[in-house]
Amino acid sequence: LKEYLIRPFKIMEYTTDWAVLTYLIDIGKKVQNYSYLWYIEGPKEKIVVDTSSSPEIDRAISGIKSKGSGPAGIRAALQSAGLRPDDIDIVINTHLHFDHCGNNSMFRKARVIAQKDELEFAYNPIPTQKHFYRLEDLRDFEARDHELVDGDKNIVEGVRVLKVPGHTLGMQAVTVETSKGIAAICSDSVYRYRNWYPSDPKYGTPVKHLHRIPPGHHVDLRQWFESMDKVEKLADIIIPGGEPELDGKRIPIDLQQ
Ligand SMILES: [Zn+2]
Repeated sequence: LKEYLIRPFKIMEYTTDWAVLTYLIDIGKKVQNYSYLWYIEGPKEKIVVDTSSSPEIDRAISGIKSKGSGPAGIRAALQSAGLRPDDIDIVINTHLHFDHCGNNSMFRKARVIAQKDELEFAYNPIPTQKHFYRLEDLRDFEARDHELVDGDKNIVEGVRVLKVPGHTLGMQAVTVETSKGIAAICSDSVYRYRNWYPSDPKYGTPVKHLHRIPPGHHVDLRQWFESMDKVEKLADIIIPGGEPELDGKRIPIDLQQ
């Protein structure tokens, strides 16, 4: 195994309803949600997963009053890892929702990667997903050095994208080889540990009737459950997309257990 470190950086945050993160669970109960950029630290290529958004984009899209500094926050996060945006070789977008690709244009020298099905879906989404896609993001994606993957693929040695439809049609997770096994960056497929471990009281009121809780927004729940089975088979470490405690950590060495 390669021994990459994954470094999550919290870029934006906003208040939402638990039912948005955990489908139909705790309706009306408020929770903070977070948008992360993930830096994969390894010997050669410098890889970023997802590029968050900005307060301006958040407000324009959904009237969300978010906190965080968008591009400035990304610059500061990278700086703490000794990097500038121009140092990044590859940007992987787990999907093309506005809060995952909103700052792709900062990474002028990077190749951007998404699933082929995701771009097609983004141009022609179902109505419940329409406001999550911005035409300017899609055009920017296509205008730069980009790659559309069709399924699972090794991006560099030890870093792989896995097609995991469910939250969106062309959703992908990113698996990364680490000193403690394969870690899966799950993004909005698994917002919180509670989605993955619903009966564990550590993560909220236990939910007994489901072995996993889907995200509130999804296009196909059967696909989502099958996708998560696929992730479980391949990954030793599950990394939720919006777990507050991960900010600034080095995965896997700073994780307990
Ligand atoms: Zn999403």
